[in-house]
Amino acid sequence: MQGEAEPQLRAWVDYFRDLGIHDFYRRGEPMVAQTIEAGVGLTDIASVESPEVSPQYAPPAPPIPTTLSEPSPLKLISFNDLAPLPAAPVPATDRAAALRAIQDEIGDCTRCPLAYAGRRKIVFGDGSPTARLMFVGEGPGADEDAQGIPFVGKAGQLLNNMIAAMGLTRADVYIANIVKCRPPGNRVPEPVEANTCSQFLLRQIDVVQPEVIVALGATAAMYLLGVKQSLSSLRGRRHTCRGAKLAVTYHPAFLLRDPRQKAEAWKDLQMVMGELGLQAPARK
Ligand code: URA
Repeated sequence: MQGEAEPQLRAWVDYFRDLGIHDFYRRGEPMVAQTIEAGVGLTDIASVESPEVSPQYAPPAPPIPTTLSEPSPLKLISFNDLAPLPAAPVPATDRAAALRAIQDEIGDCTRCPLAYAGRRKIVFGDGSPTARLMFVGEGPGADEDAQGIPFVGKAGQLLNNMIAAMGLTRADVYIANIVKCRPPGNRVPEPVEANTCSQFLLRQIDVVQPEVIVALGATAAMYLLGVKQSLSSLRGRRHTCRGAKLAVTYHPAFLLRDPRQKAEAWKDLQMVMGELGLQAPARK
């Protein structure tokens, strides 16, 4: 199996394994050939020949799952370990085109169940392809899903204010999310969804090559760093991600619920400004 088909098939196999389904067979085949558990590779399963079966005897296609009956198990691999850094960094002049190529490859994505869970628009990313600073959130909400742009709702307004407080504008930074499609009801993305989508976020980071990444909230921190630790234990420390420094702070949606933590978030952003050599603008 070549090209895009294999990662897609792997994602679906992982997804069904997460549901406890381990045996796979071609529709119309009398019995299961072998199981993944027995160590059979995807290529082996795909190459099992089916006997000719009249379509009228073929069992109906299983419904496409849009929700997970039980949470999928957590598989954490840091973005540093997911893939080696590109041998040749994308030159600044080519970064916009490189991002468009990733977006084209994503297309009208159906690689994970979020595609079937009421998604309207895929939220790819927004901002400068040559940004020195990148923010990574969790996943689109209703406003982002409607507009196809990250952080445009209430949490987005607060993020804009945080960016302005650093003396920057949205056009100076790059903003993306762990998953590009809205999880229904704004639930936390399932591991199978985040892990399926991470290949694209990883490439966006590699193209933009930010000097600093800010993980907004526990979900972004967990998947970027590949660790499940409390936000308080991750804040105030300098981490690394794909050649960039990485700082962890509160998600703006959390700050809207608990504005007392804004002073703590500002400390995190000041640390980031120090890394970037930025001065806060004079207060009006
Ligand atoms: N929350 C996020 O994590 N991302 C968005 O794009 C919007 C809200």
